[in-house]
Parts: sequence; structure tokens; C-alpha cells
Amino acid sequence: MANPSLLILAGDGIGPEVMNEVKRIIDWFGAKRDLTFDVSEDLVGGAAYDKHGVPLHDDTMAKAQSVDAVLLGAVGGPKYDDLDFSVKPERGLLRLRKEMDLFANLRPAQCFDALADFSSLKRDIVAGLDIMIVRELTSGVYFGEPRGIHMEDNLRVGINTQRYTEAEIERGARAAFDLAMKRGKKLCSMEKANVMESGILWRDVVTEVHRDYPEVELSHMYADNGAMQLVRAPKQFDVIYTDNLFGDILSDCAAMLTGSLGMLPSASLGLPMANGRPKAMYEPVHGSAPDITGQGKANPIACILSFAMALRYSFDQGAEADRLEAAIEKVLADGARTADLMGPEGGTPLSTTQMGDVILSALDESL
Ligand code: NAD
Repeated sequence: MANPSLLILAGDGIGPEVMNEVKRIIDWFGAKRDLTFDVSEDLVGGAAYDKHGVPLHDDTMAKAQSVDAVLLGAVGGPKYDDLDFSVKPERGLLRLRKEMDLFANLRPAQCFDALADFSSLKRDIVAGLDIMIVRELTSGVYFGEPRGIHMEDNLRVGINTQRYTEAEIERGARAAFDLAMKRGKKLCSMEKANVMESGILWRDVVTEVHRDYPEVELSHMYADNGAMQLVRAPKQFDVIYTDNLFGDILSDCAAMLTGSLGMLPSASLGLPMANGRPKAMYEPVHGSAPDITGQGKANPIACILSFAMALRYSFDQGAEADRLEAAIEKVLADGARTADLMGPEGGTPLSTTQMGDVILSALDESL
């Protein structure tokens, strides 16, 4: 059988720096676990603009459509801030998400024990936290029509429309239930059915889809209460499914439960391809961090954890994903820290490459 294929788009700023460490991890799985990927690389964001005058070349888009998974670093930087909106680096990212129809955005919030004191919440509330927010990514109020700003009775009026079809709610719900089946078999759906018709439809459709997943325990929660519960007792959740707008806010809120931006991976999934794998793009939540670019200070863990998500959700390699996450957990427990993870007690931070080195050693030890 052909090796699974992976397109790496390292992008700008610290993107290529953190991606270098991921490439070493990919090589390790090839050499030590007989898990070889056909890896190709291309440009995105400012790097693509510098070469092609566009933030994503059509050929790159075609490649992204044909591979089993895309792994992206980060895009953007001050050099590109004054570019026309249509060619800004972020447009490359948006084009990938849109044309691959990546409608389910997975944002795990996982608190490694060794970093529990980095959270703004008390250690016992976040230690061991492992929840997943599934945000609908391609519809809802960010896309609904009518939208715009117009004049009414000499006053400016701003309009956006929350709009969901049942098909849009359903496909995201299926992705969320599938995930719950692979995890703790608990799903909490969040909307505002008390004040929004789209919320009533959301609740109805999720309840209907639940019939196909009788093993999953389903609950419903108003999104405002969900925000409160996320900071009061986040460990009550396993998988949360919510819309584009609420998901935007709730996933950022959940992310901060865990401390540093340098630790947060994400996945965006679409419909299954002919081989049964979902269209997929994996990327760290952080940006290109121009303030530390080229200094060897970037934490590669968010990008490495994004690859772990690819192992789990695109390549059915849950045990190898566990192995990689356990290696990261171990080095953190042993005290390995990049600069962003340094506490008030100080010490000498590891460089990006040194963090890659210790994770590779921990992987060797896992054999
Ligand atoms: P950022 O995420 O790049 O950086 C925010 C802060 O976190 C900075 O102080 C940075 O040094 C730090 N940081 C981020 N990732 C880190 C890591 N892996 N290790 C250590 N520290 C890390 O956000 P920003 O500064 O608002 O944006 C910078 C550029 O990135 C902008 O051009 C923005 O448009 C772009 N951006 C891109 C993405 C993406 O590619 N998905 C996401 C957000 C921002």
C-alpha cells in the first residue's frame, strides 16, 4: 500500500523553525516505527507572496487537495502588513480552509501536569484537563447574509446574520460524535436556544444525530453558561460542539486554561475523501511570532502536537499519537522548558532545537 501523504506548508516567521522539529519527529517515526510518510513541501503566506505574488499558488492549492493531510506552520509578519487585503498572508490560510471545505475545527485544551501552574486558574481545577472543542468553521454569523453597514433614518446600522442549514449543523455534529466515540463518549452541545431560532434548530438536529450514537452521553447547555462552566469546572467536559461564533470565543477561553500559546495544536477537518480519510489541515494555534523569529526561542510543541493530532485523526495511529504526547509530557515533567514556559524561578531555557532533541530522546526511551 502507498505511504500516506503529507504536505508541509511551513509559512513565515517561526513557522519554518518549529516545522523543522516536526520534520525530525516525522523522520523518527519512519526510522523507528516503520511509519513512513510521503512528505512534500511548499510555500504559503508571505513566503508564497514573495515568490509568486499570491499567498497561495494554484498548484499548492491543488497539492493540498490531493494529499492525505496538510501540516501548516504559521503565516504573516510586519513585512506584509501593508499589502492589499486580497494578497495578505492570511488569505492563503483562508483559501485552504474554504476550498478544502474544512468545516469542523478541533481545538483540544489539554493541561500537562508540569505546566498546571501556568494557568490563570487554580492547579486542581486544570491539572489533568483534557477537553476538545469542535467549532463549526464554515457557516454561521461570520458568513450569513444579509450583512453590512447601511443608513436607516440617518443612522448607521450594522447587520450580520446567524444562519445555519440543518445539513451544516449535522455534518459538524457527526464529526463531534465520532470524536466523542474515540474519547470519553460524552458530548455537550452549546447554543442559545433560549433566545435564538438557529439555536433551537441546532439543538433539534444534534438530538436527531444522537440517535446514531447511542453510546455517547449527550447534554445541551446555553453557551453563556458553557463559558461560565469552562472556567468553574472545565473537567466536567469531554467534547463540546458549538457554532462558529460561540466556538471562536469558547475555544480561546479554553485554550488559556492551559497556559502558553506555544503549546496549543489544532485540526480542521472536512468530508471524507475516497480513501475514507477526512480532508484535513493541522496547525498550531499561534501565529508567526515576529518578535522572536530567528532567535531559536520558539516553542515547537504546539506544532509537534498538531502532528500528533494528524497521527490520530488522519492516519488512525492513536497509539503512536499517545507515544508522542507521552514523550512531551515526560520532558515537561523532567523540567524541559523553552523561554515561553519559564516560571519566576528562572533557569536556562532550551532552544527550539534543544526541545526537539529532548523529545526525540524521550521517544527513543519509549521503545
Ligand atoms: P503570535 O501568536 O504570532 O504571537 C503572540 C505572542 O506569543 C508573541 O509574543 C510570540 O512571541 C508568542 N508566541 C507565539 N507562538 C510562540 C511559540 N511557538 N513559542 C514561543 N512564543 C510564542 O500572534 P501575533 O503577534 O498577534 O501575530 C503575529 C503575526 O502572526 C501576525 O502577522 C498575525 O497576523 C499572524 N498570525 C497568524 C496565525 C496563523 O498563521 N494561524 C495566527 C495568529 C496570528
